[in-house]
Amino acid sequence: MAKRDYYEVLETPKSASAEEIKKAYRKLAIKYHPDRNPDNAEAEAKFKEATEAYEVLSDSQKREAYDRYGFDAVNNAGGGFDPNAFRGDFGDIFSSFFGGGSSSRRGNPAQGRDLRYDLTINLADVVSGSKQNIVINNQIFCDACSGSGAKAGSSKKTCHTCHGTGQVVRSAGFFSIPSTCATCNGSGQIIEQPCAKCSGKGVKANREEIALTIPSGIEDGQRLRVSGRGDAVSGSSQRGDLYVYIRVRPHEHFERDGADLWCVIPISPVQLMLGDEIIIHTITGSRVKLKIKAGSQHGDDLRIRDQGLPMLNSSKKGDLYVKLQVSIPEKISGKAKDLLKELERELKVEKEPRPVRLKDLK
Ligand SMILES: [Zn+2]
Ligand SMILES: [Zn+2]
Repeated sequence: MAKRDYYEVLETPKSASAEEIKKAYRKLAIKYHPDRNPDNAEAEAKFKEATEAYEVLSDSQKREAYDRYGFDAVNNAGGGFDPNAFRGDFGDIFSSFFGGGSSSRRGNPAQGRDLRYDLTINLADVVSGSKQNIVINNQIFCDACSGSGAKAGSSKKTCHTCHGTGQVVRSAGFFSIPSTCATCNGSGQIIEQPCAKCSGKGVKANREEIALTIPSGIEDGQRLRVSGRGDAVSGSSQRGDLYVYIRVRPHEHFERDGADLWCVIPISPVQLMLGDEIIIHTITGSRVKLKIKAGSQHGDDLRIRDQGLPMLNSSKKGDLYVKLQVSIPEKISGKAKDLLKELERELKVEKEPRPVRLKDLK
């Protein structure tokens, strides 16, 4: 199935409120729920598609990123849907609607919590790729109790309120709405003798330095996943992931269009008329020659091959485009004036120029 726009999947307008999105998902989830459509691959695919769309559109940050940058912003760097990046949230959404989920999910140990970090890099970092160290505040398992929260040698007992399920369920019309058991905070177990080091929390605050490898060609808005460096949460068996969202700082000379770069070069009318060879400083700082043909026009775009940005996961490169913009000196010498008057006569400069429609301008 080709990847469809998330709003299209949920059959909602782009302006839909959070409540409308939730309703739309609920409707589809009921229709295509695997329990109601056993051995129906198409229904299962639709169910997954709707769940993926809901996972993004129900999260205001992810929704904003998706609205601005599309799938790349909410999936992994490099594009494409990464099912692993998604696994943590799937169960949560599922159980928020259907309580407990299917048997295969029920026994799964809880995941930790994913973290987000925003990193702004320079366009020059995109050229060669870069290595950067970031420091994040996260939560890790308590080393004294390995995350259990129970004092060494002591054990936990099953919660009497929820009988170990971690959830209490109340009925509301068609749905059974589950909520987290307040007695055990959803862990299903009660600690009798809490670990002294973490007071039974099982986790502790941590500060961690992470070495990131930022691939060359990365686009603004893409994210990198660092597996297992998110938060440990009480009752989870493994830590969540860290997502680093990349922002690329605008460059003072070059503008980016995918892998291509654009810039404007001021040029003398004399150079346009006579032609010239000029030197352009590229994004890497190297100097390349650019030939301007005699008779070039204001607004002409000239291309310098392979002086753009590298393409992500590729050895190919984009090009550098140079737009020529006439630059007129504000003051010129008397001699220059005399020469120009002579030139005016020689070129028979038009005294009754014909108008051109705006849209016919280059
Ligand atoms: Zn502990
Ligand atoms: Zn409980």
